[in-house]
Amino acid sequence: MGNTSTTGEIPTDPPEFELDETSSVSGGGGHGATTVVVLGTGGTIAGTSAQRGDNVGYTAGQTPVLALLEGLGHRAPVPPGLRIESEQVAQIDSKDMTHALWRRLTERIAAHLVRPEVAAVLVTHGTDTLEETAYLVQRVLSPAKPVVFTAAMRPADALQADGPQNLLDALAVAARPCGLRGVLLVLAGKVWAGAEARKVHPYRLDAFDAGDAGALAVVEEGRLRRFRDTAEVPVALGLQVLARDIWPEVQIVSSHGGADGRIVELLLESGVQGLVVACTGNGTVHQDLLAVLLRAQQQGVSVLRALRGGGGSIVCGAAEVLPSAGGLTAAQARVELLLRLLRPGSNCCCGCWVTGNG
Ligand code: ASP
Repeated sequence: MGNTSTTGEIPTDPPEFELDETSSVSGGGGHGATTVVVLGTGGTIAGTSAQRGDNVGYTAGQTPVLALLEGLGHRAPVPPGLRIESEQVAQIDSKDMTHALWRRLTERIAAHLVRPEVAAVLVTHGTDTLEETAYLVQRVLSPAKPVVFTAAMRPADALQADGPQNLLDALAVAARPCGLRGVLLVLAGKVWAGAEARKVHPYRLDAFDAGDAGALAVVEEGRLRRFRDTAEVPVALGLQVLARDIWPEVQIVSSHGGADGRIVELLLESGVQGLVVACTGNGTVHQDLLAVLLRAQQQGVSVLRALRGGGGSIVCGAAEVLPSAGGLTAAQARVELLLRLLRPGSNCCCGCWVTGNG
């Protein structure tokens, strides 16, 4: 998983804009919180291509996070007195994310957040599984200080790399979150709540959305313009929820034309403990698949319905036979189900991301 753990600092001058001491510690940093820690995990933001200008056939996770920060040079919006530290936690294409790396990254974030001098943690990450990682970190840590994820849709050596501006914007949000808390995603000038964000486009620079919830803010020339507050969040599950070496077996199955229960039968035979069904319509499931899912549920397998696509949330009726994951994507619902199985009783309640009476 390439979890090298080098640390480094980037020069803090010359600052491009002033930031007073009070605003630099807003968002839970507390007095004297003067450090932003940047954790690198790889992704396209750290990607390079064999042929410069190839925006598709590149290799993610090549450039060290310290080099990405140094590449910002004089553009870094470093307020006087603010330190930036970096640590290379991993160097992967996020499509290859593992449970072990989720645990390691969450531990590193937590370790830095408890340091009194740390105002915020920033994570560079691939876009492919970012919605899963951000959801996991929010549910496990529910941090009071900002944990700001950023990414890119073009490799670091692209002719028009979007990574530097995204990193710059993310640093600005980390340094001055203007009251935004918890896990955030900064990409293409927009700030999303980490647990609400999902990747909606495979190529566009503005590749994320949050469905009906919309963006929290935009970043313009290093300044935040807020649209709304962060949603009420459930309490942190705590790092110990990730402590087990072997995590429960949770798989995603899909309902579609011609679907049946054969794949679920096979998964039951192999000992699956949780199933997310990516549903059609408003959380509907093909009757042939539903019959086997209900049998799985009777046998003690946890089943959660999520939407197959679109930006809304399942609207539950009075007689739902399978629980709903509300507005979570199927991939986020899988993380939610993993956490529920890792710590029974940890259901995310109504009023947050998992809504509905299912
Ligand atoms: N495959 C890349 C990754 O997730 C895509 C990206 O970062 O945009 O690491």
